[in-house]
Amino acid sequence: MLTCKQASELISQSLDRSLTRSERWSLRFHLLICVACARFNRQLASIQAVMNKWLSDTEQDEHLQLPLQAKLRMTQALESEIAASRRRP
Ligand SMILES: [Zn+2]
Repeated sequence: MLTCKQASELISQSLDRSLTRSERWSLRFHLLICVACARFNRQLASIQAVMNKWLSDTEQDEHLQLPLQAKLRMTQALESEIAASRRRP
């Protein structure tokens, strides 16, 4: 049985890599019984959807393209906000 900390780490990692089959099952089970982690999972998914849309929109419009360094800074800021939101109840 995953702890909430382990579950939220897996949720975050799932954005960057494919989870193993056992990680997916453990996480799925945890999300069925834990309201807080299920909410975190939904929030992260919606943030990611917005970011993906924004990135694909800006990549198609050369006037809106950001330098790579700016994209990296935004990604890091977003990741630290996600990490901070995990620590909030
Ligand atoms: Zn939990």
